[in-house]
Order: sequence, then structure tokens, then C-alpha cells
Amino acid sequence: MEQESQIYSFQTINGQGGSFCADRAAAAKRNTGKTSPFTVNLFKESLPDHTESVPAWFFPSTYRTNKGGLSLVKSNERNFLLSELSVDRLDSIYQHLWLAGLPMPPRPLHYQMVLQREVVLCEKMDMHLVWGSGRIFLKPIPRFLLSSAFWNTHLQCPKGCECTWDQRECMIKNQRSIALGFLLTYAALISFESDFAISKKIGLLPSDLDSCQWADWQRFVEEIMTPSISNDIHRRFYYGELRLGRLNSISLLTRLGYYMNQWPDYSSFLRDQLGWLATTTIYIALALTAMQLGLATDQLKTSPIYMRAAYGFSVFAILGPLISGGVILLALTILVVINWKFQKARSEERFNSINPR
Ligand SMILES: [Zn+2]
Repeated sequence: MEQESQIYSFQTINGQGGSFCADRAAAAKRNTGKTSPFTVNLFKESLPDHTESVPAWFFPSTYRTNKGGLSLVKSNERNFLLSELSVDRLDSIYQHLWLAGLPMPPRPLHYQMVLQREVVLCEKMDMHLVWGSGRIFLKPIPRFLLSSAFWNTHLQCPKGCECTWDQRECMIKNQRSIALGFLLTYAALISFESDFAISKKIGLLPSDLDSCQWADWQRFVEEIMTPSISNDIHRRFYYGELRLGRLNSISLLTRLGYYMNQWPDYSSFLRDQLGWLATTTIYIALALTAMQLGLATDQLKTSPIYMRAAYGFSVFAILGPLISGGVILLALTILVVINWKFQKARSEERFNSINPR
């Protein structure tokens, strides 16, 4: 853990050289302690300072349960937070994440535009900062995570919690480390005032944060970025941007399933597969033409090795595309059967939970 935290370090412009001020020392104590890691109230107009409870409208209205049902957040806040602050899928493949991205903070929002990536809002925590095919998925900051009252009431271990006496990772401590890591990604995504303007424009910050100024955001970031921050965040956030294609490959090999199915329908699957088949066929046609030309030269038409190679390649050129086409059709059939079986099983499970016998 110590080694990893050294790899992924954060520093504010004012905090270099270890000469941090008393405020930051206090903030460090807060992060390792059990109170809110920040004191700035970004909701100047919609939430009075020193509010001790979290207004209900700070939360989403509904969420999907594990069994595919729909629940009200208001009456199931604890269960909602279990799904909201979860990066289990990434945690289970953590040892392979180096294949999908670098252990570095994400690049700022304006630079994502420079890279011509379309920002797609996605509320799933484990899709935050995943990118591929010209898109990057970003989870907007939930309003409740910017409320210090929420941190004090929902992300604070109860007295005598197991994590306080034997350093074990309790559920709340885990959720707190995910929430803190998530906020830290925004410290990186919103580095410049231009990033701040972009984040407001595309809806990454809550809509009632219009009165929040750049200086307020700077204070907020200074408070959460303590010298010990890398020890307090979840290990997923040692990594920044993660490639979707690589996550899919890792997931297929280790969990026998996609991280996120990149083919929303069968036609897009066929289009992708036929694309590489067409490219290969064009190359084979070029190679055959070159071979035919070689047969007309004095040096090659008498060479038995060349003749054998030409014979073998001609057979491959005839059978290769046919076999590949067959394999693609077989893969499509398997995909359709698996999807049907999965859909049927999920439907039965769902109907059983709606109308238990
Ligand atoms: Zn605890």
C-alpha cells in the first residue's frame, strides 16, 4: 500500500515542499478521522452553513436494486449507498488494471476535448473515467457528496466500529475511501478555470451550484487534498482513465463476461467482425496479385519452394475467408443463444421476485 501511494501522489501548487499550513494539517486529521474532509459550503444559496442533516432532495429519487427492481432512495438510503459507492467490479480485477490504464490522475476536462473525446454522463461509479471509441464516461458529482453534513452522518463509523481497533476495512470506511477517491478525480478533472466552466456547462456539477465561484472550488480542492490523501482513497483511484477495450479483455479472461458490452445490437457486432474480415481479404488479394507477378519472372517460376508457397497461399486465399465467415456466424449464433438464455433466466427471476409463489 505504501509503495502504491508513492506512485500516485497529489500536490497542490501551494503545498509543495511539505510546508503545509495549520488548516491543511487539520484537514489531514479530518481525512483520517471521521468527519467531513471539507468545510466549504459550495451550496451558498440552497443550503445554509452548518446544516447538520442532509436534505432529501440532495439524493436521487430512485435506484435499481441488485435483483433489477426499483426502490425509492428516500426509504433505503443505506442500500442505495451500497450500490452508489461501489467499485467491486474494478476491485476484483485490480491486479490487472495496469493493463487498462496508468496509475496517474485523469487529465483535465479541457484536455479531454483536445483529445476529441465526447464526454458521456454515466451515473455508475465503476464506469467513471472509462473511455473508448472517442468517448469518456464521467459520473457527475452527486449533490450529497458535496455536503459536509452527509459525510458526518453517512460516512462516519459508529463508535466502537471494528475498523477503529484492528485496522480492518469496514463497509463505511470502504465507502468513504471510494467517495474521497471520486472527489479527488474531480480535483484533477477541474484543474483550470476553463475546466470549471466546462463542468458547469455539461452538467458535471449540480445545477444549483451556479453561485459557486472558482475561488470556492479552489478552497474545496485545497481542503480535500491533504498530504496523506493517497492513503485514504480506494485503490481503484490510484488509476485514472481506464481503457474500455482492455477492461473488456481482462473481464472476458478473468470473469468470462464483458465489462461493458460494446455491441449494443447484433448488427454492430457483425459490422465490427466483417470490417476486419474485409481488410484481411483485401490484403490476401494484393498478396495473390504479387504472387502471380512472381510466377512470370525467370527467378521464381523455376523455384520449387516458391511454387509450394504459391500453392499453399492460393488454397488459404480460397478457404481462409470462407472459414472466417463461418466462425463469425458461429460466434453470432452462440451470442444469440447465450443472450436468449440469460434473458429468459433474468425474466423468470424477476417475475418470481414480483409475484413470489
Ligand atoms: Zn468503521
